[in-house]
Amino acid sequence: MDKTKKISIIGAGPVGAYSAYLLSDHYDVSIYEEHKTVGNPVQCTGIVTPRINEVIKIPHELIVNRIKYARINSPDGNSVKIKIDDIILDRGAFDRHVFEKAVEKGAKAHLNTRFVDYDVKTGNVKFKSDDKEFTKHTDILIGADGAASRVRSHVTKRKVEFYIGKQATVEGNFEREIFDVYFNVDGFFTWVVPENESIARIGYGYKKFDKRYDDFVKSYGKILGYQAGPIPMFNPMLRTQRGNVYIAGDAASQIKSTTGGGIIQGMLGAKALSESIIKNKNYEIEWRKKLFKELYIHEKIRNKLDRFSAKDYNELVGILSKEKIRHTLEKTNRDNFSKVLIQLMKEPKLFKYAFK
Ligand SMILES: Cc1cc2nc3c(=O)[nH]c(=O)nc-3n(C[C@H](O)[C@H](O)[C@H](O)COP(=O)(O)OP(=O)(O)OC[C@H]3O[C@@H](n4cnc5c(N)ncnc54)[C@H](O)[C@@H]3O)c2cc1C
Repeated sequence: MDKTKKISIIGAGPVGAYSAYLLSDHYDVSIYEEHKTVGNPVQCTGIVTPRINEVIKIPHELIVNRIKYARINSPDGNSVKIKIDDIILDRGAFDRHVFEKAVEKGAKAHLNTRFVDYDVKTGNVKFKSDDKEFTKHTDILIGADGAASRVRSHVTKRKVEFYIGKQATVEGNFEREIFDVYFNVDGFFTWVVPENESIARIGYGYKKFDKRYDDFVKSYGKILGYQAGPIPMFNPMLRTQRGNVYIAGDAASQIKSTTGGGIIQGMLGAKALSESIIKNKNYEIEWRKKLFKELYIHEKIRNKLDRFSAKDYNELVGILSKEKIRHTLEKTNRDNFSKVLIQLMKEPKLFKYAFK
């Protein structure tokens, strides 16, 4: 414990707030967020596996819905329903919950304060709040400032690729326990995630905008609002620490490139980061021990999916419909994706995709 050591965390998303929560017992922690409030705007669907409870216990009131089936739809209109047990979070309230826990632990909150620059020689950080610029000295700087991280440029010159995720809240008729996935050729995928029987979060990822995706969303009912944000793709070559500057979460592309799920992965990155600082361990090694294998596999699958044709997707959904494969998917914990993959690769028809 060294309460004279100053740690500045940029970004009060789940990764920044969780890092602040874990570090505040040991150090003088400040958390800086460019928005005036935490958890606003929301740029996320908020779907997580129950593994989130191993990271942070989720109070009941933050759960909007529980999903019992994922229905995977192919371009030719066929589908397969797979049993899952996912949680739909109130993402804004979730961010505020983690942030409040950090503040309770002693983290100092600076809202409406944007990180502008960092001088490695002096350890001074430049901030802007309203129109005023000011500097503060820090011993450690943590970039948890999301996909378009500014802190990242102080750690690495490598780029992070991303899809744009655009999502609408839609009023219509939905099956409350079913989350629909539609494979998009030349795109990421489209998702329909119900909050209840009459409201759903419907979105898609893209590199090149296609009006057909918007038309698809509108076909579900009345649009109540849109939100959008970048979804980074995992870059296994990314450096995540340089001296006293660290990056975690979306800033470090700690995200599953297949689904764009990054809440749990980023928070596990934050845990590895906090433990590395507290126990004086090597962060580059520690987070890779926890996350690398899974994220790497997801990234390799994403590269293959990006080359899939409509015919490939039709065939894939056909194969996934087979009783044996569905059963494997349902009984193997999806959080241990390498295990799922090993099981699936025993199926000769799926094995061929490994060489695609
Ligand atoms: C449309 C969409 C849907 C998604 N759906 C899911 C999902 O269902 N499940 C899932 O697990 N993941 C999902 N994700 C990904 C998930 O949102 C991210 O992985 C997660 O938010 C990463 O958390 P973070 O704290 O690293 O970054 P963020 O949540 O992006 O937080 C970064 C924070 O830093 C602040 N900030 C940025 N720059 C500065 C600056 N210069 N100074 C001060 N503050 C700054 C931002 O305002 C923000 O509050 C989705 C993403 C998108 C775009």
